[in-house]
Amino acid sequence: MELHELTIQQLSDELATKTVSSREVVEQTLKRIEKYDPVIHGYLEVHSEAALARANQIDQRRSQGDKLGPLAGVPVAIKDNMCTTEGHTSCASKILGNFCAPYDAHVVKALNAADAIILGKTNMDEFAMGTSTENSGFGPTRNPWNTETVPGGSSGGSAAVVAAELAYGALGSDTGGSIRQPAAFCSVVGLKPTYGRVSRYGLVAFGSSLDQIGPLTKDVSDAALLLRTIAEHDKRDSTSVNAEVPDYMAKLNEPIKGLKIGVPKEYFGPGLDDEVAEAIRKALDVYESAGAMIIEISIPRYKYALAAYYLVAPAEASSNLARYDGVRYGYRIKNPKDYVDMYSASRADGFGPEVKRRIMLGTYTLSAGYYDAYYLKALKVRTLIKEDFDKAFENVDCVAGPVTPTPAFKLGEKIDNPLSLYMADIYTVTANLAGVPAISIPCGFSAAGLPIGLQLTTKPFTEDLLLRIARMFESATDHHLPRPKLQA
Ligand code: GLN
Repeated sequence: MELHELTIQQLSDELATKTVSSREVVEQTLKRIEKYDPVIHGYLEVHSEAALARANQIDQRRSQGDKLGPLAGVPVAIKDNMCTTEGHTSCASKILGNFCAPYDAHVVKALNAADAIILGKTNMDEFAMGTSTENSGFGPTRNPWNTETVPGGSSGGSAAVVAAELAYGALGSDTGGSIRQPAAFCSVVGLKPTYGRVSRYGLVAFGSSLDQIGPLTKDVSDAALLLRTIAEHDKRDSTSVNAEVPDYMAKLNEPIKGLKIGVPKEYFGPGLDDEVAEAIRKALDVYESAGAMIIEISIPRYKYALAAYYLVAPAEASSNLARYDGVRYGYRIKNPKDYVDMYSASRADGFGPEVKRRIMLGTYTLSAGYYDAYYLKALKVRTLIKEDFDKAFENVDCVAGPVTPTPAFKLGEKIDNPLSLYMADIYTVTANLAGVPAISIPCGFSAAGLPIGLQLTTKPFTEDLLLRIARMFESATDHHLPRPKLQA
């Protein structure tokens, strides 16, 4: 096995036994980035010097026999909406193109404390609004499995660099599917934790009541390891929950006896691609053979989820994005006529079309007269969807279904039709609205060789159970093993 093919845990073992140094690992990864990333464009910025310097430090500490963190010397990548004091934090937006964060996000601090090495910042849809990474202000990312197709979004860069083995793991953020959907399109594992599990301190806000940070990795064990590293109560985020963080690794390989998996009948309606439906059914058969009970359930309010999400998320976005005014930081136009012109022209120039669309939609739904009709109603629907999940979890341990209605689509195929892009989020937004944890794991490929993901959801704060259920599938199959052939 070549070095880049290793998982985080395998690499950690090699580093611990000193068969390879962290410096060598970083050098080799940087070479691969130089060779393959010009086509994939998963990175917005690579912090080569900082990464090499840190690798030297860690190697030195290791040779001195110092106690090192659980991710010592492992190169990882961070989505560009998480603040890092190293380099820029642009959210793939021109409006923050030159922004250097004055502090590290909580998750960045946690990775550093675990002695991980941050390689750089990954591409994304501008401010995490999108499903294909085509909304990046700095050019799209391509799917390593087929560079004519999108990697998904908004954490498309993070998913692509893990799939292409240009990082051993990555962090993404998920407001309505942005970790799980690109994970499914790129055949990697993507976990959105329970709302409140991971601190959002230093995550540039999109939809504050929906956003969560989570890992993208080659397998479920690595996801458990990364989640364990970043999940921690943080007083600086008032929504971060002060609940014990279990050792996700400890019981990961213990299969679950009497596992009950609920499959919502609504998920198999029109719009679901036949090959995806088939892959999901086969995945459920795997669980059945492993002794699980597959039970048909209903999430009756599922049909309203997409509409509710596309009211709540833009409403929160419109208010979160009001701070980009060209005054304190970020982009400002030259020679404004007056201060109103400075605000409006800086925003008109700095934001891309999708972000502007969301700001307009959100501002409209929050305005007097429409607030009750749209925003408030969407909040009520959100509560009902949460109730649907609560009810489902009275009878089953987990809800399973597709992540995406289709495999990866072509670059440019949907970009002029925002509604068709919004529809691609149909299976993922429910978990954010309900606040429950959800994971996407590789479960096969289409005839055209494009990856397909299986989505699993459990009760709030039961990521340990969720990871075990995911691991059960992984240990019975090898869908997570193939890697794409890259073009240099
Ligand atoms: N695709 C969804 C959107 O555009 C979700 C994005 C996300 O999770 N950040 O809003």
